[in-house]
Amino acid sequence: MIIYGSKLAHLKSEQSRRITCESCGSKGTVVFSVFSKHVHIFWIPLFPVGKKGFSECQHCKKVLKTKEMPNDFKQEYKIIKSDSKVPIWQFSGLILIILIILWGVFDGIA
Ligand SMILES: [Zn+2]
Repeated sequence: MIIYGSKLAHLKSEQSRRITCESCGSKGTVVFSVFSKHVHIFWIPLFPVGKKGFSECQHCKKVLKTKEMPNDFKQEYKIIKSDSKVPIWQFSGLILIILIILWGVFDGIA
């Protein structure tokens, strides 16, 4: 039995000073959070499959998914998203597989 699935890992949260909350009208209260989704097998992260995120207003607690964001939110989210790097450990399963293959190749030669 292979146990696999996908999981979200938090990459970055950043408060934007430029954005005005649509819900309560407060400026600079919206925090953008970026998550990286990765596939795992037997709880070993295999590889990342993309980024997800949302915004939350610290004043009125209004949460917006990326699909619900107005254009200025989307632009801000894009900047923060491109600035957040996927951690190397999310590739650990892939690295492990490559190492096993390489090991097998060199073992075959020797
Ligand atoms: Zn608000």
